[in-house]
Amino acid sequence: MNQVLVLNSGSSSIKYRLIDMDDRARLADGIVERIGESAGSVADHAAGMDVVLAALKGKLDRSRLAAVGHRVVHGGDRFRGPTLIDDEVCDTIRKLIPLAPLHNPANLTLIEAARSAFPDTPQVAVFDTAFHQTLPDYAYTYAVPQEWRTDLGVRRYGFHGTSHQYVSRRAAAMLGREPEEVNVIVLHLGNGASVCAVREGKSVDTSMGMTPLEGLVMGTRSGDLDPAVCAYIARQAGPSAEQIDQTLNKASGLLALAGSNDMRDVDTAAAKGDEAARLALDVYCYRIRKYIGAYLAALGRVDALAFTAGIGENSATVRAGALLGLEHLGISVSPKRNAQESKQERYISPYWAQTAVLVVPTDEEIEIADQALQVLGRADTAQP
Ligand code: ADP
Repeated sequence: MNQVLVLNSGSSSIKYRLIDMDDRARLADGIVERIGESAGSVADHAAGMDVVLAALKGKLDRSRLAAVGHRVVHGGDRFRGPTLIDDEVCDTIRKLIPLAPLHNPANLTLIEAARSAFPDTPQVAVFDTAFHQTLPDYAYTYAVPQEWRTDLGVRRYGFHGTSHQYVSRRAAAMLGREPEEVNVIVLHLGNGASVCAVREGKSVDTSMGMTPLEGLVMGTRSGDLDPAVCAYIARQAGPSAEQIDQTLNKASGLLALAGSNDMRDVDTAAAKGDEAARLALDVYCYRIRKYIGAYLAALGRVDALAFTAGIGENSATVRAGALLGLEHLGISVSPKRNAQESKQERYISPYWAQTAVLVVPTDEEIEIADQALQVLGRADTAQP
């Protein structure tokens, strides 16, 4: 029993990976996209599971499958770690749908399809929010009326927890220390983006809030915004709450500022002198810089900054732009190291730097697989 199947589902996609945990080898992986979209041929996440099963034919050995690990976006304040799935857990994930109306239903449909496909295999839920359940109350509390907080669950939950946990642990390993010995700021810059302040292995603050909309500028999300803008736009232009939500999540961010949600396009256009792209890059990097400043203050001492995800791992422009002017705080990149392209974990700070600046490719799938085995009490596989 050494195989784990990881199912990482977004609102319209399923990333899957079958892993041999003895040597952490990928036996199969892939992505099913455009689920539920009119242009796609996959109606829902249950049909997506059939596509995954077909792709795994001949590779997956049921007699060796130890667990199925599921990414679940929102665990509210109910789930503080990876959890063995049963009917009650599914009910709780269902109750949390109002907090993640696009993601939790998709995650649940996939869990149910996987439970019927593998009725005898333990299924484990790994929540995007769980790592942030260690936030102190003063970091997760919004200053809003009591009823909103207690009856409606309005508070900061944070997301990308699996990635922040994995990357902060790898950052500690790169420094040759235990996670409990280091303070790290993790910058997860993908399509979605968030920053996390990790003190001694635990998340103590993060930029995404009750939903993934808050914080950094993202591919299509605005990030931080005066909340009064929503009421103002509603009064002036008359869109519904739903439409405003949609605009801020799907039609804002880099897309709204530069006409593309892909940082490669924005970077290329800015280099050619496109003014909108230049502004988008500056807004993007400045927002990151402000959060770094905030989390330096929150942590007091920072041993490393770690860049990860599509933009963090690949964009030298963003990494340099985000850290611009922080030299007096002991934070900088070596232009030569930063410019080197690589898929490996690496240092990009100069050798004399006070604070290590690292690039750490994230691996949510391996983290989910590890956490799934931990729940089963089989955490006997070698760590990388
Ligand atoms: P997701 O949040 O969907 O998992 P990823 O972590 O894969 O996203 O990041 C996707 C984003 O990474 C793309 O939208 C693109 O902007 C960015 N990206 C990928 N490669 C590069 C690159 N070489 N330079 C700059 N940005 C890149």
